[in-house]
Amino acid sequence: MSHIVKQKAKAILSKTMQILMHWLTRRALLRVLVSVFLGLITTIVVAWGFADLMVANRSTPKALLPVSHLNSWSVDIWHRTGAVTVSAMISGKSSDAIELLDSDVPRWSRVRFLPAYRQGEPMPIVIDYAYGWPMLSMWYSKDAKRDWQTGTVISQRTSGTLGNLNLPTKIIVWGFVGDVIFFALLFLLGLIVVKSARRRWRIQKGKCPICCYNLRSDFATGCPECGWQRAECDSVVKINHP
Ligand SMILES: [Zn+2]
Repeated sequence: MSHIVKQKAKAILSKTMQILMHWLTRRALLRVLVSVFLGLITTIVVAWGFADLMVANRSTPKALLPVSHLNSWSVDIWHRTGAVTVSAMISGKSSDAIELLDSDVPRWSRVRFLPAYRQGEPMPIVIDYAYGWPMLSMWYSKDAKRDWQTGTVISQRTSGTLGNLNLPTKIIVWGFVGDVIFFALLFLLGLIVVKSARRRWRIQKGKCPICCYNLRSDFATGCPECGWQRAECDSVVKINHP
């Protein structure tokens, strides 16, 4: 009994090694590079897509999480799918420079380090907008100053956006890398599924799985067109045809 199991395990292992060796070729490397590139593009498109969506729906935040009223600063965090907004504004008379160690305040946000404030100075507002899915990957920032007596906004500056559009260009490194890997794996998986489906379909039709040359189901002699299953071809992969 254990002998059969051992043999089966050996067969599975050698099959796995075969597939692995097939994938560890130059073509495989190219596939990985293309997948990473597509993952990169998708990460940016998704982050910008969420940014655009959120700009259109900014009036309806879904969840408001007040973090704290610390040293006269009031800090708020808005969470939505693919988007987080962190804002801090002075609501009291004065504050020393502080570092917010609250775990709800994201590490990438400038709101973690708030500047000192004394009454009489223009009152600062700090807002960071981050987007991305499944992880937040890109962000941009907005700074404003209000008159300390009237409360009216006297200056406003947005940075980390693409031109006049509110599309984030600053990168949250770990989120960005995570999203690129996530989407690259999806593309790679899709590629493997499509390739193996095509291979199976060609074999079913009696054609060469590599170049689609019609072998009339004669797989034993290999392919005269591309050399598949022939001695001179070094990228031989055996198949179990039905
Ligand atoms: Zn062929």
